[in-house]
Amino acid sequence: MNEIKKEIMHVGEMASGAALTVPVYRLKGNKDAPSVYIQANMHGAEVQGNAVIFQLLELLKDTEIKGDITLVPYANPVGCNHKNGEYTLGRFDPITGMNWNRMYHFDSDMIKPFVRESIGKDDRTIEENFKKLMIDSIEQKLDHNIFGLTTGQRIAYQLQRLAHQADYVLDLHTGPISSKHLYCPEYAKESAKYFDIPHTLLIPNSFDGALDEATFCPWWYLQDAFAELGIKFSISSQTLNKESFTVELGSQEQIDLDVALEDAMSILNYLHYKKVIAAPQYQPKEMTRYACYLKDYKAFYSPMGGMVDYLAEFGKPLPAGEPLARILRMDNYGDGDPLHYLSLDHQVIPILHFASASVNQGTELYKVFSQYEFL
Ligand SMILES: [Zn+2]
Repeated sequence: MNEIKKEIMHVGEMASGAALTVPVYRLKGNKDAPSVYIQANMHGAEVQGNAVIFQLLELLKDTEIKGDITLVPYANPVGCNHKNGEYTLGRFDPITGMNWNRMYHFDSDMIKPFVRESIGKDDRTIEENFKKLMIDSIEQKLDHNIFGLTTGQRIAYQLQRLAHQADYVLDLHTGPISSKHLYCPEYAKESAKYFDIPHTLLIPNSFDGALDEATFCPWWYLQDAFAELGIKFSISSQTLNKESFTVELGSQEQIDLDVALEDAMSILNYLHYKKVIAAPQYQPKEMTRYACYLKDYKAFYSPMGGMVDYLAEFGKPLPAGEPLARILRMDNYGDGDPLHYLSLDHQVIPILHFASASVNQGTELYKVFSQYEFL
């Protein structure tokens, strides 16, 4: 049975002085094997990832571990406890309004000077030096910033410091009411086939503050900067491989431990493929897998206010003209049109929809793959 070490990481303080803490679980592997960092619940209502980490720990106890595995449930103790009435909010910092998953750090100005210093060095040395540079720049922000940090930055940077130690990063989220889907960097699309998740979004090399981007964009920028000089430095090779994913596990505000076991096994498929564990019993399921470039992932905004009856099934192509939803307007009953059907003029795959039946004109109703290919 593998030993699981637990640490408590302090990520901030409440007004009363109460400490904000995050539990960190570690399984120790061999230093030379690839490592993984997995966190959950950065957004307060997106709780299923905690159940997945529970199931991962249960399974990993008796699995052959190759590389270091770090697991962080309840990654954001402020978001997790941010309730209003029956609901968990926790998508935005209530003080600044910032999305909790847009506060990670990457400064692309660090790339060019680093590349200049690295010419002629071997890939292993470059990898080690670059990892150190990224960790140092986070530590600089945490420890030597005379003007301080926001609550969200302090939490995000401490998580990011752990994430930068690993080769692979999985950030477990959920949609509002949603099917499972995966955010995957374009260059890593082969790896998406190892998750039992039928829908993959392929994302470009552009940093917008999320953890997946904060951990793969620096490597991708580095590869591109070397390529500009005609030097081959590959981040998807046998010896050097860096990947990060945001794993969307379904809907917010619920956990399902049985589904979490399936999700955990799906993650173990990937970790076996990447040689973080040696467990050939974990193999991806046969399924139709769809991929969509981020530019083709469209939000459909409600053309009117009203009460929504969501009709379209997630995950399956919805033919042109078939209804996505119908909107009830009881104020029009008797002297107008109380029911409005909403459809699109081309085929899409609905992935998620808004969590409430009552919407304003302009509410983001659905998100859909508007163009897609098979993976
Ligand atoms: Zn989220």
